[in-house]
Formats: sequence, structure tokens, C-alpha cells
Amino acid sequence: MSKTLVMKFGGTSVGSLERIENAARRVIKRLQEGYRVVVVSSAMAGETDRLINLAKQIDRFPSEREVDMLISTGEQQAIALFALTLNKLGVPAVSLCGWQVPIITDKVHTKARIKKIGVQRIKNLLDEGYTVVVAGFQGVSEDWEITTLGRGGSDLSAVALAYALNCDCEIYTDVPGVFTADPRIVAKPKKIPYISYEEMLEMASLGAKVMQARSVEFAMKYGVRIHVRSSFSEEEGTWIVPEEEVMEKVEVRAITLDTNESRFTVVRVPDRPGIAYSLFKALGDAHIVVDMIVQNVSHQGYTDLSFTVNKADADKAEEIVRKVAKEIGAEGVERDDNVAKVSVVGIGMKSSYGTAAKMFEVLYKNNINIMAISTSEIKISCLIEAKYGELAVRELHSAFIKEGEEVQVINS
Ligand code: ADP
Ligand code: ASP
Ligand code: MG
Repeated sequence: MSKTLVMKFGGTSVGSLERIENAARRVIKRLQEGYRVVVVSSAMAGETDRLINLAKQIDRFPSEREVDMLISTGEQQAIALFALTLNKLGVPAVSLCGWQVPIITDKVHTKARIKKIGVQRIKNLLDEGYTVVVAGFQGVSEDWEITTLGRGGSDLSAVALAYALNCDCEIYTDVPGVFTADPRIVAKPKKIPYISYEEMLEMASLGAKVMQARSVEFAMKYGVRIHVRSSFSEEEGTWIVPEEEVMEKVEVRAITLDTNESRFTVVRVPDRPGIAYSLFKALGDAHIVVDMIVQNVSHQGYTDLSFTVNKADADKAEEIVRKVAKEIGAEGVERDDNVAKVSVVGIGMKSSYGTAAKMFEVLYKNNINIMAISTSEIKISCLIEAKYGELAVRELHSAFIKEGEEVQVINS
């Protein structure tokens, strides 16, 4: 029996009817090579943002159930247009929403986790000679509520389907692979031919939005092989694979930038046991992920506590933090949206020294102040003023990584 392949197209790759046709032709090429294809499509470029913005015009904190109902429609439009295009080009194709597959998730609206995937319907359709076009980003809970998988979640839909169908996953996007830095910031980054799940997960979590972090986590857990490549050129992209298969281990694989965080400081909190617990428990209960945490040295029984959260959660976090701050007797709460987190990532860092010093030196020489630092075995991150974010990435790239080639970047 011929092999199955999941081909996922991102928003820019399906941003117009012309681009959908281009994507459909890539699918046809694979069909001609003998593959059975399951397409996963994102919404057309800008559509998800447009819909979220409409909801926010009605209510600053719109019901997440209704948000999911609304934003899942972006993918529903795209898959129908994709299937129609394939049909026009002579390929029998059927589009399926998440609930029709079904892709079953938990009930956490806007960031649901996949629990199960039923593949029988897809398999039957493939057996009957259809190409199946599945809506990315969406699923259904056990009580029939439509859910979405977090921003960039079509990557997760694709990886999870590839796992369920036991096949490889191609991610078609607007740059020709994963690079040593965002090609929109660094003019000549290097393409990474093979990257380990660990490094890709770290990069994705630290702002390299080319792959959704949760999708890489899923792929790592279940061993799904991913090929990230351009919709607009034939060139080989980047393979995301187990660490043993990555021959070249470098100290610093990539530099990333995350401008999607906000910093909160709870000022003059009484320094006693239980304070951090009250604050972070309340945020956790609201499903808000806290990232960098810094607690200052205590002065006369008081301390300042700073942390960052994703900007999408910042309004909700602010309400909670202000409430808890009052209860625990803090003097006040400050919020700063103009921060950026710049990171250096690399598995080779585990066995080298001096990486942190070199990073701090580069920032210092460019007069960039560090507000917070966090590290793991394979990354070092510094929180800095947002206006220096891109400069920091360029300077760190030239300090740690040699120049590559000019990269073709497609705009939405
Ligand atoms: P899609 O709509 O196809 O899912 P995304 O916009 O989610 O595409 O992700 C692709 C974008 O990721 C690129 O246009 C690029 O600007 C950005 N990006 C950030 N860091 C990197 C990196 N290290 N390598 C490649 N692309 C990156
Ligand atoms: N359309 C969704 C988003 O913009 C999912 C995706 O593109 O992967 O986040
Ligand atoms: Mg994406």
C-alpha cells in the first residue's frame, strides 16, 4: 500500500486563492509520487487575528467558548476552499472539521489538549481515493464543544494526525526552514538541516514561531518526524528528529526573540512563607502560564517579586495580581508591556563554559540592560527593553554564529 503523508500549510501559504492553488499543486506533486495525502490547513493569513479583534471589540474578556466558536471558522473556510481547488484541478478531495475527524480534546477553551484522534473516517476516505483536507487548530470536547489548540495550533493538528496515521509530517510555511535566527530580523542566518526535538522545543518556547511549541513537544513524545519547508520553493528544509540523528552538536544553535511577554512587579511584598504560593496558585488556577520569576533580596522584611506572562494573558493576569496583591499586603503592582526576551539555545551548551559571560558581554557592549535572567541546560534567556530586542538578536547572532545565505521570506 502506498505511503501516507501529512502536509500542513500555514496562513501565508493559503493567504489567497492563488496561494491555495499553489499549495494544491504541491499536494498534487506528492500524489503523483504515489503518496496518499492528508492536508492540514490553517486559516487564511490574518483571519484568526481579525476574528479575535472583532470579539474583543464587543468584550475585553470575551467568553472563551464563544471565542473558540468564532476563531475555528477561519480554518473551516480555508479547508473548503482548499478542497474546492483540488477538485477543480481534478483531484477528488473532502474537507473535514476537527469534530468530523474527530479530534477529541479536553475542555480548556483556546488552549485545549488533544486526548484522542479517530482515524477511521480519514482512512476510509483515503482508501476510496480521496485526499482529505483537515481543519487545523480545532477539535471537539467530549461534550461536543468546539475547542482550539492555542495560537499556531495547526502545527499540533498536523503532528498529531501524522502520529495517528503513523507517517511523516511536512510543515509548509513562508520561510524555507528553521534558521539560526528569524530571517525577518537577521539578514543572513544559516539554515539548520537537522535539529533535535529538544533544541526545537526550546527555540519554539522562546519565540521562534516557525513551529508551535506544543506541537514539538508532542512530536518529541511520540517520535513524529517533521520536515519544515517553504511552500514557495522546492528546496530541502529542516528535519526535526531525535537527538542521536543530529550529527553536528554546536554550543549555540540559534538566537531567539520573544516580544510576547509582559512583566509584572508586585512591589514591597511582606517577605514571609506562602506569598509566592498565593500569587502563583491564583494564576495557575486561571490557566495562566508564568515564565521568568525574580524575587529580590529582602529589605526590612519586604521584597519585590517580578514575573512575566504571555501578553495574551496579561489583562487577565493583571486583574488577578492586583486582587492578590491587596490581600497579601503588597504596596502595589507595576505592569510593563515593553519587554523582550532574547535567548541563546544549543545542546552543546551542556558541555561548554563561558556562554553566559559571552552573552552578557554582547549585551553590555551594546549598552543593553538586563532585567531578568533564566537558564536551563540548553538555553540562556535575558529580559531586556523591547526596543533593543532586534539589535540584541543581530549582535548575538554575529557573536555566536557565522553568516549564512540571504533568505527568501514571503510576506503575508
Ligand atoms: P505559518 O503561518 O506558516 O504557520 P508562522 O508565521 O507561524 O507561519 O511561522 C513562520 C515564521 O516564523 C517565519 O515567517 C519567521 O518570521 C518566523 N521565525 C521566527 N524564528 C524563526 C527561525 N529561527 N527560523 C525560521 N523562521 C522563524
Ligand atoms: N489560525 C491559527 C492561528 O493563527 C492556527 C494556525 O495558524 O496554526 O493561530
Ligand atoms: Mg504557525
